[in-house]
Amino acid sequence: MEHHLAASAERADYLVELSNVVRQTSIGPRGPRSLRRLGLVLRALMELTGDPDVSVYLVADTSLLGGHREFGDPDEVRRLRRWVADGLVEEVGDADERILELARMTGTRVVTGDQYVDHRGEHPWIQGNTWQFLRPEPRPDQRVALVPMDMGVRTEAEISRRMELSALKKQGLLGPSRTPLTDVIMRAWSCPEPRCTLYDLHRGDRILLPRIRRGVPTCELHGVRLTDVGVRPAGAQLKVVIDGGCVARYTLDEGSEAYVGRLPGPEGIALHSLLSPEIAARVSRRHVAVSARGGTVLCRDVSSYGTRMRHAGRRGGPGPWEKLPPGADRPFRPGDEVELAPGVVLTRSGRRFPAELADAWRAEAARTPVPPTAAAPTRRV
Ligand SMILES: [Zn+2]
Repeated sequence: MEHHLAASAERADYLVELSNVVRQTSIGPRGPRSLRRLGLVLRALMELTGDPDVSVYLVADTSLLGGHREFGDPDEVRRLRRWVADGLVEEVGDADERILELARMTGTRVVTGDQYVDHRGEHPWIQGNTWQFLRPEPRPDQRVALVPMDMGVRTEAEISRRMELSALKKQGLLGPSRTPLTDVIMRAWSCPEPRCTLYDLHRGDRILLPRIRRGVPTCELHGVRLTDVGVRPAGAQLKVVIDGGCVARYTLDEGSEAYVGRLPGPEGIALHSLLSPEIAARVSRRHVAVSARGGTVLCRDVSSYGTRMRHAGRRGGPGPWEKLPPGADRPFRPGDEVELAPGVVLTRSGRRFPAELADAWRAEAARTPVPPTAAAPTRRV
C-alpha cells in the first residue's frame, strides 16, 4: 500500500479521511477497525482512475491510534504507527477540520462517509456539492465502490443543531445512548483557580461547557474539578427579519416576557422605525408576546390583525404557515418563524436554551442508530 501514500496533500490525487474509512464496518473484514478497508479503497481508486499509481493523502484523528485495541491485528497498529512516524499519515486532534481545510485549499476530492453538517457554517462551499466527496460502499463481489455524495443543502437550524451536538460530544457531555448530561449542562460552573474566567458567566467573554473527565466536570485549562454554582441562567436571542434581511437582534432573559409590536411601550421591542408606513399600519402596537420560561421560549398572539407561524422542517425547507390561536402560548423554537405582517418576521437564533438542547438530543438519539463505536464521527446516510 505504501507506494500510494503521498507525504503532502499538494502531491496527492485524493484526500482520505483515514479514521472514517478504517471504522466503516459496512466494508471489508469484521471488527470495529481495520486497515484492510484502506486497501479496498485504494483498489477502488485504481479502478476508478485507471491509474495503478494513484496517490492519496491520509488524515487521521489521534483517537484512531489512541483506540488501538479495537484493531483486530496488532501488525496493522505497528504499520500505522510507522506511517505516522514517516509522515505518511497526518495525525491531528480533529481530522474533519483538517480534511475540509485541505479540500477547500486544494480542490482535491475526498474519500469519506461524513456529511460534515456541523462544519457547514464555516465551510459553506460544502452546501450542494455533488462531486468532491466520495463514499466507500460495499459491492456484491466484496470489493468497494466509491460513490459521489450529494451533500445537499442543510438549513441554518440543522447546521447549528449539529454544531451543538459535536460541541457536546467533544466535551464528553454525552451519556450512554447519546443522551446529553442534562444535569451538567443545566448548571453553572466555576473554576476554583481565582483568575480563571472560562466558566464565569459574569466575567468571561466566552463561556465554555465543562469537560467531563472520569465522570467529573473539569476545567479545560487547569484540569481541576469545577464547583457547581447553581442553575445556569439562560438567554434566548430573537432576530427581526424584514424582507429577508435581519435588521435587529434582542436578548430575552430567562423568566422575562417582552411585547413585540409597532410601539409596545417600555420593556418592549418597538418596530415602528424599521417599518414602512403601509406595513406599520398592519402591525399592532403590541402584536405578540414572547416569553422565556423554564428554559423554553413561548410566543403568544395579542394583535388585532392576527399572526402566522411556521416551524422549521425536519430537513430542507420550512413547514406551512399556520395562524396562531389568539391569546395562547405556543412553543417558539430555533428555526421557527413568526410573521407579524407580510415580510415582517421574528425568528430565534440557532442557539438553544439548555432544556431545548436536551430535548433536541433526545430526539436525535431516537432518530439516529447508535454507531458501533461511540467515538466514530461517521453518520451513514
Ligand atoms: Zn480554570
